Amino acid sequence: MTRALRPRPAASDTLDLAGNDYLGLARHPEVTDAASGAARRWGAGATGSRLVSGSTALHAELEGELAAFCGAEAALVLSSGYAANLAAVTALAPAGTLLVSDTSNHASLIDGCRLARGTTEVVAHADPDAVRKALAARQGPAVGVFDAVFSVDGDAAPLAALAAACREHGAGILVDDAHGLGVLGEGGRGSAHAAGLAGAPDTVVTVTLSKSLGSQGGAVLGPAAVIDHLVNTARTFIFDTGLAPAAAGAALAALRLLRAEPDRAARVRRTARTLYEALTAAGFQAARPDAAVVSVRAPSAQEAADWAARCREQGLAVGCFRPPSVPDGISRLRLTARADLTPADLDRALSVLTRTAPPAAR
Ligand code: PMP
Repeated sequence: MTRALRPRPAASDTLDLAGNDYLGLARHPEVTDAASGAARRWGAGATGSRLVSGSTALHAELEGELAAFCGAEAALVLSSGYAANLAAVTALAPAGTLLVSDTSNHASLIDGCRLARGTTEVVAHADPDAVRKALAARQGPAVGVFDAVFSVDGDAAPLAALAAACREHGAGILVDDAHGLGVLGEGGRGSAHAAGLAGAPDTVVTVTLSKSLGSQGGAVLGPAAVIDHLVNTARTFIFDTGLAPAAAGAALAALRLLRAEPDRAARVRRTARTLYEALTAAGFQAARPDAAVVSVRAPSAQEAADWAARCREQGLAVGCFRPPSVPDGISRLRLTARADLTPADLDRALSVLTRTAPPAAR
């Protein structure tokens, strides 16, 4: 099945449960004003690598506030979460390092492992014993690499147990919290914060600015020595144009809103839970959400695609995940809860999903 790119309308009556704007901040006036203000002040683009001309006071401010919010010693902002993961994995795994990587990790972590000079052992999903076994057999340095929240089913990794397995064997810990920042932990401080790992000398966290923060870009958070090392060695930092000032300004404004309105994180979690309960009560097979994503099983890849298309025709945008994007071969609709969805929005979503469902979906 080939994929087509469908332009998203700038504004429409469509109810969007497909995007990752978990806190509903991408269109918040303070966020969009900050983006345009930053472009006017600093220019539309960063103009060069962060090491040459692409660093502004705005980037430094964002890095300082992001690190403080998440409880890390330091942060480095890159042009995407993808670039942040490539930077973090490769920097932490010089030749001779073993990377122990969860089999359900995001493509950017997998690519980071492929690029790194160390070797990689892929282990079972969310399985601390599998991590222990891989680490017990190795010689030399090692790092466990984990997505904190898996993007397809929205389940959270048992981070504290995975970290404990790494620590028993003196291995470092790398956590991708793309879907946890702004949703999990106290006031949305993220999964590592919730697991007691924030600020730990053996832990590095990556985040994206493109989901809860409604902007674009990524960041690595961790000990200052690791961040210094990235500035000097990470190829996706050094040889990439810096994050556009508008994106940095928008992310900073969104972060400040999240800090000022900590209930947004709890709201998105409540909304996801309500959506899940309504779907299961209606007879659908949905995965219990740990964060903002609710996934619903479809009988086949074709029926998933057709179901999503019928939803769109009826004004509901949903994600559609089919093989090969899902390694277990199970096709799903992926719905994202947002902090700004109303009970009427949820009723409308459920009614469209029910009306358009293939018979075998329930
Ligand atoms: N990690 C995870 C788990 C993701 O879901 C994504 C985005 N889909 C990324 C990293 C990459 O982030 P970005 O979109 O900012 O490149």
